[in-house]
Amino acid sequence: MFEEYDDYRKQIREFGLKEFTDEVAAKYDRGEEYPDYLRKKSLSLGIVDMQNPAKILIAIEELCRIDAGLGISVTTPYFGAEVLMLFGNDKQKEFLNDVYSGKYVLGLGVTEASGGSDVAHIKTTATKKGDKYILNGSKMFITNGAIADYLVVLARTSDEDKPHHGLSTFLLNTKLNGFKANKLTGKLGVRATNTAELTFDNIELSSEDLIGEEGKGFYYIMTFFNISRIYVAAQGLGIAEGAFDKILEYVKANEIKDENTMFEIADVATRIEATKELTYNAASYLFKFEPRPQLTSMAKAYAGETAVYASEKAMEILGANSLEENVERIFRNAKIMEIWEGTSEVEKLVISRFILKGE
Ligand SMILES: Cc1cc2nc3c(=O)[nH]c(=O)nc-3n(C[C@H](O)[C@H](O)[C@H](O)COP(=O)(O)OP(=O)(O)OC[C@H]3O[C@@H](n4cnc5c(N)ncnc54)[C@H](O)[C@@H]3O)c2cc1C
Repeated sequence: MFEEYDDYRKQIREFGLKEFTDEVAAKYDRGEEYPDYLRKKSLSLGIVDMQNPAKILIAIEELCRIDAGLGISVTTPYFGAEVLMLFGNDKQKEFLNDVYSGKYVLGLGVTEASGGSDVAHIKTTATKKGDKYILNGSKMFITNGAIADYLVVLARTSDEDKPHHGLSTFLLNTKLNGFKANKLTGKLGVRATNTAELTFDNIELSSEDLIGEEGKGFYYIMTFFNISRIYVAAQGLGIAEGAFDKILEYVKANEIKDENTMFEIADVATRIEATKELTYNAASYLFKFEPRPQLTSMAKAYAGETAVYASEKAMEILGANSLEENVERIFRNAKIMEIWEGTSEVEKLVISRFILKGE
């Protein structure tokens, strides 16, 4: 699947191998610094094309195979764009061109300190006042939070019996008065990505900042997750492939031939192959505008587990040698794959709900 992009795959891998050296990856991981020059370089070379979903998928996989911290950093400056693309007004859709060109960095703020899985019960409010909305509240663990020029934000606009009916999405300019971002440090993995806690203190939004219709925000965000989860599956797939590269390199260099290691190689390879089939299959439906959320959630949950499994096997097979930064970093980067964009448990709830509905 996606063989028509083989040349592109080669091109993006060459870019990653040239730019994501061990030295660069270690520097941005240790310093917990966002590599903005790599984002700009990848866009100026036209190597990351945010308007072609198949290319995004392949770029994420190949770049995360080399280093997930850097790979995710250069492929998420458009995070949240699909909400605007699908539900935004003409002006908001036009604004996306400035995101695709690299002029602006975008992010998406849904999660709050009280928990990320229970989206329906978020507490941030956008209260209507004349033709304005006044935004108050906070968001937690927001990717690009301290570097984004704009954020797609989910807030409560009314109290309804069914809490998810009272939510709306807004495009927030982070230069507005009342916006504060506090960069979070000390993350286990993906340390080159920027993560922040955000506070909104009486921020005045205009009615033009509303995305789509009031009260439809929950539906917009769930639609978005059914797209973005495929890209997280590609992150997990790339991390697992990167861990497997390290295993093969080590086993070949040291001429390891014991049966247990052979079984482990076969096991990791099989899980990677299954992840790839599942991810590409779910992606092919999505890219034809025939999304199958249960397949997407299967791909996301399985890719997360495969990333963790493969990176653990790399640590075990390489033994003490796995403490080299370029191996232990893979292990640290893998865990978030089971958490963000819906934990594995949440994905499994989605899968079983669809199955029980007979879809
Ligand atoms: C580095 C990083 C970057 C992130 N970037 C973003 C971002 O850009 N935008 C954004 O909005 N969020 C972002 N997040 C937040 C992320 O999406 C959440 O961490 C995730 O949704 C899980 O929420 P939580 O961590 O609050 O865990 P919780 O929701 O509190 O869950 C804790 C545990 O309870 C389980 N659980 C919860 N509910 C159920 C249930 N109903 N049934 C069974 N088990 C359940 C979960 O599976 C999990 O094991 C980021 C997080 C991190 C760490």
